[in-house]
Amino acid sequence: MAAAKRDFYEVLGVDRSATDDDLKKAYRKLALQYHPDRNPDNIEAEERFKEITEAYEVLSDPQKRHLFDQFGLAAFQPGAGRGGAGGGIDLEEALRTFMGAFGGGGSIFDNFFGGGGGAEATTRGADLRFDLEIDFEEAVCGSEREIELNIPGACAACQGSGAEAGSGTERCRHCNGHGVLIRDTGFIQLRQTCPHCGGAGAVIAKPCRACRGEGRVKGRRKITLKIPAGVETGSRLRLAGRGEGGIRGGPAGDLYIVIHVKPHALFQRRDEDTLCDWPISLDVAALGGEIEAPTIHGFRPLKIPAGTASGTVFRLRGQGLTGIRGVRDGDHHIRVIVEVPARLGGSQRDALRALGAACTEDNYPQLRQLKSQFAEFMEHKQAMGP
Ligand SMILES: [Zn+2]
Ligand SMILES: [Zn+2]
Repeated sequence: MAAAKRDFYEVLGVDRSATDDDLKKAYRKLALQYHPDRNPDNIEAEERFKEITEAYEVLSDPQKRHLFDQFGLAAFQPGAGRGGAGGGIDLEEALRTFMGAFGGGGSIFDNFFGGGGGAEATTRGADLRFDLEIDFEEAVCGSEREIELNIPGACAACQGSGAEAGSGTERCRHCNGHGVLIRDTGFIQLRQTCPHCGGAGAVIAKPCRACRGEGRVKGRRKITLKIPAGVETGSRLRLAGRGEGGIRGGPAGDLYIVIHVKPHALFQRRDEDTLCDWPISLDVAALGGEIEAPTIHGFRPLKIPAGTASGTVFRLRGQGLTGIRGVRDGDHHIRVIVEVPARLGGSQRDALRALGAACTEDNYPQLRQLKSQFAEFMEHKQAMGP
């Protein structure tokens, strides 16, 4: 008996802007609540488990999520390419998805049911984030550098097992090796994964002294980091399995390096485009000429037309950054600033005075235009009365 399908976001209790992380968290919480192992012979819970798993399966897949966002449930009804009568997924598939979402390892799975105890089960290490400041040049060219981080990793003394050398495991006293605790309330039997061994049925006989049985220790670790050319502030580099070590041999988490690019004195950046200001001389601005324009690739020739105003921006196509997304190379934009000559000597002064004397209002169209606008303003003002 399949109930009518509900909106996948609603099923997981998240809103439409939920991130992958939000989805995973919401799914995990609900899946653990309705998991068949926790709700034996409870058809309602099983249906719920399948429902939330299907919702998660769709929303955690970018392609399927996009499809759902566009077409809604219609895209996932029978006849739309998936699902049996009434849609939905079977329990086996739901259980597989659940295992896949949380690392797959049986021991990890058991640990979720350990009720916070699970003292002897393995656990995946946490993902770690590290912020790294780099120079503009490094962001442009890419680089390889070694960084040192404090990351808990596998304990060398026990190879991550958590057991003192020479000692093994012994049967868990609390569950007698069954991994499950059964509590009889008189009416019903409650089955619970043994919190002392995390369902493993065995515990470490003698915890390793170096790591107190955790299987990992704090330590500084050297990491060689390849920074690809074109990264920008906010770029994240993911180093799979380089995060916090797992507990008792569990898999390590991932390490995320978040890039921050230091501002540069000359060059600025907008996506793949680069920008800079560059002075030109009075005579080049007035008469035109060719200058050497700085780009991140070196000087490039740039023609300045006669009568170029200060602040004019020229574009050098393809002279920006090489796109990290590999789409296209950016452009370079250079804003020319007319630099007034300083520290003038006698003959230079004379030449400029001669120029000034030879020029008329015709040579300064901008001034002439603004003058006429100002004259108009004064006229109107007068017409308004005192
Ligand atoms: Zn150890
Ligand atoms: Zn136990």
